[in-house]
Formats: sequence, structure tokens, C-alpha cells
Amino acid sequence: MNGQGQPFRAGAPAAVAVEYSCADCAASNEIKAREPIRCRECGCRVMYKKRIKRKVQFEAR
Ligand SMILES: [Zn+2]
Repeated sequence: MNGQGQPFRAGAPAAVAVEYSCADCAASNEIKAREPIRCRECGCRVMYKKRIKRKVQFEAR
């Protein structure tokens, strides 16, 4: 049985986009680290960072 998890890359790419949720219209925007934080829908500059809960799992079959 292969019960051990496989290793995955922990290093983040150079330009990583973080998903933000607008405080005003709740639209989700992907904003890169160098870009100004601003909603594309309404122009609001108050954004909440979304928490990405994603299980990364690789199964070899
Ligand atoms: Zn907005």
C-alpha cells in the first residue's frame, strides 16, 4: 500500500495572483502583488483577501 503523501512544490511562482473579494460589491478579483488593490467592478479600493482552502492531492494510478 502506498499510504504516504507525495511531495509537491512549495515554492510560489514569481508573479502570484491573490484572490481578493471586494468589500463593496463582493466581486472576486485576482490581483497580483505589484498591482494596486482595486475592484474591477466598482473601483472600490477596500478588498478582503480570500482564504484559499484547496487540498492539493496527487494520486498516482
Ligand atoms: Zn467592487
